[in-house]
This record gives sequence, C-alpha cells and structure tokens, in this order.
Amino acid sequence: MPPSHPFDFDAIDPDGDGDTLHEECGIFGVIGAADAANFVALGLHALQHRGQEAGGIVAHHPETGFNSARRFGYVRDNFTKQSLMETLPGPLAIGHVRYSTAGSKGQTAIRDVQPFFGEFSMGGAAIAHNGNITNADSLRRELIERGSIFQSSSDSECIIHLMARSLQRDIPARMEDALRRVEGAFSVVAMTRTKLIGVRDPLGVRPLVLGKLGGEDHGGWVLSSETCALDIIGAEYVREIEPGEMVVITAEHGVQSHHPFRPARPRFCIFEHVYFSRPDSIIGGRSVYETRRQIGVELAKEAPVEADLVCPVPDSGTPAAIGFSQESGIPYAMGIVRNQYMGRTFIEPTEQIRNMGVRLKLNVNRALIEGKRVILVDDSVVRGTTSRKIKEMILDAGAAEVHFRIASPPTAWPCFYGVDTPNREKLLAATMSEDEMRDHLGVDSLRFISLDGLYRAVGEAKGRNATQPQYCDACFSGEYPVVPADMIEKGFQMKAAE
Ligand code: SF4
Repeated sequence: MPPSHPFDFDAIDPDGDGDTLHEECGIFGVIGAADAANFVALGLHALQHRGQEAGGIVAHHPETGFNSARRFGYVRDNFTKQSLMETLPGPLAIGHVRYSTAGSKGQTAIRDVQPFFGEFSMGGAAIAHNGNITNADSLRRELIERGSIFQSSSDSECIIHLMARSLQRDIPARMEDALRRVEGAFSVVAMTRTKLIGVRDPLGVRPLVLGKLGGEDHGGWVLSSETCALDIIGAEYVREIEPGEMVVITAEHGVQSHHPFRPARPRFCIFEHVYFSRPDSIIGGRSVYETRRQIGVELAKEAPVEADLVCPVPDSGTPAAIGFSQESGIPYAMGIVRNQYMGRTFIEPTEQIRNMGVRLKLNVNRALIEGKRVILVDDSVVRGTTSRKIKEMILDAGAAEVHFRIASPPTAWPCFYGVDTPNREKLLAATMSEDEMRDHLGVDSLRFISLDGLYRAVGEAKGRNATQPQYCDACFSGEYPVVPADMIEKGFQMKAAE
C-alpha cells in the first residue's frame, strides 16, 4: 500500500472521504530515443495528476530484452533514481500511472500495477490501459473457465489473456482480436520488441495523442494521454489518435494506422475538459484552460448574482473563476490559498492533525474576504462534504454572503469508464434537487452550469444534440453510451427512457 499521510497535499482528496472524482490512469510510450525509459518517467511525471497511487515502466533493449519496474507512490520518488533507471535500458519503453478504480480498490497489490506483460510464441508484449472495461467480469469468468490464470484483479489483464487465446500470427493482430471482445472505454499503449502501439476505443472516450521527438526526418515517436506530457520532453504534438484507430509505430516505417473496429460516433469524455486534464493540455484542438475559462463565462451568463468578489476553489476552479469575473465584471480574488509548499513531511500523523481535513490543504485569505459577498467557483460537487467545509471556512473568515457557482452540471450518475465515482446514493445530486443541495450546503445560492452551457463552452455553439450527444456526459445525464454490463449484473439501474 502507498503511505497514507496527512500532509500528502498532492493527493486530490485530502479528507479521503471520496468527495472528489479521480481519473484512473495516465499512459505514455516512446520509441526511437536512447534510454526511452527516462523520457517515459518524465512523461509520467507530467501525467501524475491522472493517478498518484502507483506507476510502472517496461523497457526493451535488443541485448537485455524486456525489463520492468513497478512501484507504489509518485513518479518523482521512484523513477528519478539512477540505480533504478539503469535497469530500464533501450530505445523503446511504455509506462503507466494509476489511481485505482477497477481492481483492488484501496488495497492495491503491486501485481495490479501496470504495464502488464505477456510472453507469446512470437515474443513478449507489454500493455498499459487507461479506461475501464465494462464487460470485464464476464470476460474474466469465461477466460478462467477456459484455463487462463489471472495474476491481478485488474480488468486490464483480460486484454493480455484474450491476446494469448487469439490465433493471429502477430501481436498487433492479436491485440485487435482481443480489443474487439472488450466493451467500455480504453486507450491503450503497448509495445513489442520493435513496435510501439496505440489504440483508442471506437467512441474515443479516453484521450490519447501522438507526438514526435527530434524533428520530421529522424528521432522518436511518443504516445501520451495528454499533450502536457509531450511538452515536458520537448516532443512536438502531431495529432490525436482517432477514436477506433490503432497506430503501430516502428523505427523503420514510422506510424502505420489501422481502423480495426466498426465505426461509431465519437463520445469523448466531456469531464476531461472540466476537470481531469491539465489546463495546459490541448484537447480536440482546444486549450483546456480556454475551455474552462469559457465555462466561467457561460456560468456568469446563466447564473448571475450580485457580489463583491469571485474566488476560485484552487486549483481546478481557477480558469472558470477568471471567466466568471471577466463576464460579470466582479473582481477576481485569491480568496482561498492552496498550501503549495507544505508537501510531504516527516511529521508523524496524529488524530488532531487528521481532523483538520481540508484546512491542511486550503486556507482562507481573511483580509480579502471579511465583510464581502463572495462567489466561490468550483469544478464539481460530488458528495458535498468538501464544499460544506470550504463554506464554513469562508464564513468563519467573516464573509457576508457565500454563493457557489459550479463549472459542471450536477454529478448525479457514476462513471463506469475509468473515473472513480462514489456509489450513486452517495452523489449529492442523485438524491437532492439544486435547491435542496443549496440548503444542505448552507450557502446563499448554488447554481451549476447547464449541460447545454457546458457544450457551448467546449465549442458546440448549438449546445447538446439531445438525439446524438457529441460527448459522453453520462455522469450528468445518466445516458450511458456503452451499456455497463457488469454493473447491471450487480444490480445497477439505468435511467428509465423518457
Ligand atoms: S461518465 Fe462522466 S467522467 Fe465518465 S467518461 Fe462519461 S463524461 Fe467522463
């Protein structure tokens, strides 16, 4: 288990009460660079916001073959040590950072940490998966009945076993076979001895981008969950891997593209724009920062309120608060300050310190807040526990009024596509109306951006197409683009058709 520490300020959920949504994973791969594992470590470091629990790297060298290292904790604490990185030589490497949704949630064993490796008759292959396989339980049952021996509790391991059962003669073709059996959301980065492979599911729910290292005619290729991880290694952004596309990259032939799945309408995760991706990433040709600022503009139009200050809940509420301030003309202020430099310390945890909860992470700028009517802009409300504590802190500091403006629609449904959400009954918006949530949080007003407003902010001028939604927005709408078969078997009830 990774150490749980009350001063672990990089963890997004300081109270550990499940009041935040967590992206499951970040994936990264490099081919054609000397000591590719070093680039992968840097890429994973830039993707650390997508998973802080554990990370792993597999590298291949023509003389030493495949080598791997999997560790709990942050990339910077593990994959910066020369002694470790020297064990991962070679021009081809892939890596993975994970939170945990599928698999042994909260009790991860090192065997659940990716990349996973399989030895096939035509050679070895390693895979790293971001997303969630929605028919993993039934696949696992079938595979076990047919003799597969699973080593982890991760849904992603199904892909390796499906590849082992394929009769195709090369590994990319076996991956195609395997992924055609898989339902749900997946972006995959994989490697053989000579190939770097990237795949996105037919709906393209989770992101994956292609980058180039060292110019047009030479150098290496990179696959990454987000563009911000290309920047850190000086790679040039080339394009997104398309929904349903598989790219097979070799040093000799460069990028070869296939489309092995039946074509489908893309349904990218709209929450990547709101919260998961880093604001310095580009998604679908749009700056994530600019989209978030635009969400604030839309919110100010939809839900204006008289106030003295607009303050973000750091850090992910910041661009939307800036947009809200610009549109409304109400001054922007850093009314809440994040304790940036507290970091991990050697101080022993005590019960008293644990009880400080959100105060350890955020502090109110009392001099700014006192006597003011404050608009707080946050990215989402999940269970509402953090929002209540922040409201109390603001009132303790002497605010005259507190108004919440939320940069996403009410999160009323769980995600089954690679984002950790509490059970439906624990989602505040699943059991309360907006007015009830306002009263529950004890604030003067509470408004969420509308689904149409969110679509406009991501560039869909006419808003959401109700008959053919342009994005996955299931956690807001309850309309799941892929039927979550395993969850239905476990008793989950889909929204009734209207
Ligand atoms: S359900 Fe929500 S968080 Fe999950 S993929 Fe869809 S939009 Fe993203």
